[in-house]
Amino acid sequence: MLGTAATIAEEARLASRALFEFAAHLVHPTVRLGVTGLSGAGKTVFITALVHALLNGGRLPVFEPLACGRLVRARLKPQPDDAVPRFDYENHSRALVESHRWPESTRRVSELRIVVEYQSANGAERTLTLDIVDYPGEWLLDLPLLTMTFAQWSAQMLALSREAPRRTLAAPWHAHLVTLRPEGPEDEQAALTAAKLFTDYLKACREERYGLRLLPPGRFLMPGELAGSPALTFAPLDFGDTHLAKGSLGAMMERRFDAYKNVVVRPFFRDHFARLDRQVVLIDALAAFNAGPTALVDLEAALTSVLKSFRAGNRTLASTMFRPRIDRILFAATKADHLHHTSHDRLERILTRMSERAIERAKFAGARIDVVALAAVRATREALIERRREILPAIIGVPLAGETAAGETFDGASEVAVFPGDLPEDPQALFGADAGAFKGLTVADPENADYRFLRFRPPTIDERANRPGELPHIRLDRALQFLIGDRLA
Ligand code: GDP
Repeated sequence: MLGTAATIAEEARLASRALFEFAAHLVHPTVRLGVTGLSGAGKTVFITALVHALLNGGRLPVFEPLACGRLVRARLKPQPDDAVPRFDYENHSRALVESHRWPESTRRVSELRIVVEYQSANGAERTLTLDIVDYPGEWLLDLPLLTMTFAQWSAQMLALSREAPRRTLAAPWHAHLVTLRPEGPEDEQAALTAAKLFTDYLKACREERYGLRLLPPGRFLMPGELAGSPALTFAPLDFGDTHLAKGSLGAMMERRFDAYKNVVVRPFFRDHFARLDRQVVLIDALAAFNAGPTALVDLEAALTSVLKSFRAGNRTLASTMFRPRIDRILFAATKADHLHHTSHDRLERILTRMSERAIERAKFAGARIDVVALAAVRATREALIERRREILPAIIGVPLAGETAAGETFDGASEVAVFPGDLPEDPQALFGADAGAFKGLTVADPENADYRFLRFRPPTIDERANRPGELPHIRLDRALQFLIGDRLA
């Protein structure tokens, strides 16, 4: 009974918050833009570059308000949510622009407000408030857990972990799993070991070269302040239809799974996700290509599961009634500067093919979707280089100090030329019947295969080519135009 009263009070609170935000929106038009992507996808760099471009301008020909000179100015303002950490724009942009270092990556949710003054098409002075919400994609992949029971989740996790190449990675966890008796008495040490081995397995899957990307529960990989708490101390069990009696190990795990949903997933959904108007999902597609076909299938599944959450989001909470639903979603493949420009369109086609099922769903829900291959900060330049009497397209950059390739360790100062290889012209080559033949990116120069994994230093700003402090990019303006261009029209 108490539960119901609490739920009603909670719904009332959410509805009044939504109403308040809706009213505020009428006075100060606001866009809440979610930026997400799995760890290392490029969220921090993307937000920093986007805000830097809005504050300082730059070469952004496709971003119409700026290109037409209607953008008067943009300023940072205190954010509306007092309990959410601020996105550390100043430090991140200093790292990029002044120290030529990549900023520190996203580990938790953060927020930044920027107010854009512009001239509308009929000449009137207007403002748009842009609230950017940065959150780990691992948390987004948790949302489907809300509609799952512990039994369903266990069955799904087990089935996935028994397929190659996950099976090998799961061996230590599986070995422990068979020693557990779900119907036996609860046992904290067993739960701790199971959770640790299961987390090790998830981490192994995440290793770059496997590139497997469908890994809830997200806090097992990004625990934040919950590290070590019971809500993170559980793991799937193999129990089929066995009834889990009170006091059993299985019942304990089930309780903690439910706690995870209540303490972690629901608050994230309610306080952050359900309030977004627009969303950009960043994808390190290159890492997945390099990892091969299984990783691509995983990525496709992850994208589809992401879109399911967007729909679930629109239906389940009464409070969303007052807000316009998420009406635009951008899937952006990041770090396109690791490829020659001839491959950028191909990358976009592959991503489109990959998000086809997701796009169908989104259309159904009334949202617009776009796909772009971009580099928020371009760290390389292009050249044609002769190699064994062949002229090959190459990209040139400064590898980070300590990066190694082909037995060489780089000092962070000297340039190398990389022959990045081509993506297939026809995306179907990656997904069709012969997808098994796909073994990762085709490499133009096999001797340089390892170089594809190099991380480059951010660019030193070339004063001649750019205005002072301007950051070079690839297609960041297209992303901006899709995400907020229409709201500045
Ligand atoms: P996050 O975990 O999603 O916040 O990822 P970050 O934004 O911190 O990016 C992770 C790493 O990817 C950075 O440290 C860079 O090495 C690399 N990276 C991100 N964006 C770009 C880009 O536009 N170009 C290049 N070359 N590297 C990038």
